[in-house]
Amino acid sequence: MHLIDTHFHLDYYKNHKYWYDQINKLQQYTLCVTNSPEVYYSCRKLYPETKFVKFALGYNPQQSSEVNFSKSAFLHGLSTTQYIGEVGLDFSKRFIGTKQKQLNIFDFICRKSAEQNKLLSVHSRMAEYDTLRILLRHKVSKAIIHWYSGNVGIMHHFLNAGYYFSVNSSMCTTTNGQKILSQIPMERLLVESDGPFSKIGTKRYTPTDLQSTYDLISDTLGVQNITYIVYHNFKRLLAD
Ligand SMILES: [Zn+2]
Repeated sequence: MHLIDTHFHLDYYKNHKYWYDQINKLQQYTLCVTNSPEVYYSCRKLYPETKFVKFALGYNPQQSSEVNFSKSAFLHGLSTTQYIGEVGLDFSKRFIGTKQKQLNIFDFICRKSAEQNKLLSVHSRMAEYDTLRILLRHKVSKAIIHWYSGNVGIMHHFLNAGYYFSVNSSMCTTTNGQKILSQIPMERLLVESDGPFSKIGTKRYTPTDLQSTYDLISDTLGVQNITYIVYHNFKRLLAD
């Protein structure tokens, strides 16, 4: 059974060509998210999609002060992929200045993505309530909440709405991360690396660490057959 990584930033690696080849060789299903439509286009231009490497069209809220969001570039890309990400809201101190802009963009992205039943990989930091509200407003049916760090109460509202959670190795090493992991029902669990941002021990993640990521999550949860569980969860989510 193949491992799945539902949130990975290929373009953040200096030697992205090498890692693209490795992922295909390792046969790990990998959803490569992008931080803007422009990055999405350059990835698609450089790399053919394969059975194992797919690209998601995104606009990371952390880009909102530096990179303009082009609605037309986003809409143009929408018909070329099933996957949308990284998208979402970030109201942490560094990004709170663009709150209104982020809300407008995320609202637009959810509206357009829901119309075409796309799958979203969603970033939400200190913005859980608004993230949930906008997803629900547009009846987004397929969403994965990535590296969730918010409160457990709101987390249950995401679960009630049918959304999935993708977890990574770094979440296994913090008290809050472990608490969140323990609240995810097995049928909503997915695994991500958020490479290069997660760590395995003290080392920055690379795709050869995906098995270790699964092992660490498996140990943290005390559940054996994570690979099987995640494979079937992702398959079900895609089929919905
Ligand atoms: Zn990310």
